[in-house]
Amino acid sequence: MNDDRELFDISRSLALEFRKSLATRPVHATANLAQLRAALRLRLPEAGEPPAEVLEKFAAAMEPGIIGSAGPRYFGFVIGGSYPLATATDWLVSAWDQNTGTYSVSPANAVAEEAVAEWVLELLHLPSTASVGFVTGGQMANTSALAAARHGVLRRAGWDVEERGLHGGPRVRIIATAETHATIIVALRYLGFGSGSLVSVPTDSQGRMITKDLKTALRDVEGPVIVCAQAGNVNTGSFDPIGDIVDLAHAHNAWVHVDGAFGLWAAASEKYRHLLAGFERADSWATDAHKWLNVPYDCGIVICADAAAHRAAHNIQASYLVQSTGAERDPFDYTPEFSRRGRALPLYTTLRALGRRGVEELVDRCCAHAALFRDLLKEEPGVRILADVVLNQVLVRFRDDDAITRATIEGVQQDGICWLSGTTWHGIAAMRISVSNWSTTEEDVRMSAEAILSAYRRVATAKTLSS
Ligand SMILES: *Cc1c(COP(=O)(O)O)cnc(C)c1O
Repeated sequence: MNDDRELFDISRSLALEFRKSLATRPVHATANLAQLRAALRLRLPEAGEPPAEVLEKFAAAMEPGIIGSAGPRYFGFVIGGSYPLATATDWLVSAWDQNTGTYSVSPANAVAEEAVAEWVLELLHLPSTASVGFVTGGQMANTSALAAARHGVLRRAGWDVEERGLHGGPRVRIIATAETHATIIVALRYLGFGSGSLVSVPTDSQGRMITKDLKTALRDVEGPVIVCAQAGNVNTGSFDPIGDIVDLAHAHNAWVHVDGAFGLWAAASEKYRHLLAGFERADSWATDAHKWLNVPYDCGIVICADAAAHRAAHNIQASYLVQSTGAERDPFDYTPEFSRRGRALPLYTTLRALGRRGVEELVDRCCAHAALFRDLLKEEPGVRILADVVLNQVLVRFRDDDAITRATIEGVQQDGICWLSGTTWHGIAAMRISVSNWSTTEEDVRMSAEAILSAYRRVATAKTLSS
């Protein structure tokens, strides 16, 4: 089990080969469920096998089921790739194998996290006094921020939720739109609010919260309130009018949380920052580094203006731990995890290598690619762009027909030139294109738009012939 060099060399060369293939391999998986099960669901060996052999056979079995989602023509969901530097750093994170919960167990990690936290706040133009935690992703960033919000609004109501729990306390209502991300609803379940505590406010034609209706909702609900705003609608990329939402909510003593898993990075760009106007006055924010910042999975970020609320919801004490003197920052005071990997470290090196201008350029470039998709697709008769392209998301519909739109998406997926998926947007089928990979070039966009149009033409011709 001990030949480090041989194993690391195998891993390194397999990784290099894979990464080299990303630009040319089919984006979809080439093995199906049955084939993957046959290759991977082996009997647990009784005696064990030689490590180098295991590693090689394992990689070979995995390979046909690996999606090219880290590559330049994957536009599904909001995925993002990983810079080579970020992945290389992640290897070190695994090699160092630090438990990063406290300063005492990993001093270097704790201090590097202080630096990343400062850089993230600076890049996003958020208050330098805000607290930051590095979590697994947007799901836990939302959960963690809403745990701080739960503390904040109940403290104001004279109720110590950390000690007493929710039972018997004032009922907290959460105001959001029906287009709020699914992970917010899951967070409400985890936190004991229940999805039934959600008060849903209507959205406009772009998917943005309508402030007039928020006003009514705030007037009608009683007790402590948390308002969840969205920076970057998962379908359209649109932004709730956050400044107005903050004004209205704060006038009602409500906490404002901003889910900006990908959209918060608009703040790093001179050109797109206006979409977030007023967001710096909110109370908490959630974002991801593993999406648009292109570090490997997993890395999400929770940020709280009220650092005391953030800590109150998360801090951990136990008699056997080395107590912080107060000078050090213990990462586990800001996250739901106790033991965890150094998931902020790939972001540390990535931000140093990009610099402020590099991050801005990444955001601007992906948005320009999204606009190019729109321009290349909209010229084709029968193609309709369903929402304004304000950021990195494009929603497309074909022949104004659900079946044709879905068949076009399937055709593109099967061709394997690029990959994207479908959605239902305001009751109709649509194709969703998300541009968030650092390595996507203009040529990739042109090649992919051509693949989409050729799939559409095939579907449209077949439809015309059959009718
Ligand atoms: C992706 C996303 C999330 C969830 O983030 P994960 O990192 O996948 O947990 C939450 N909100 C929005 C708007 C997202 O796009």
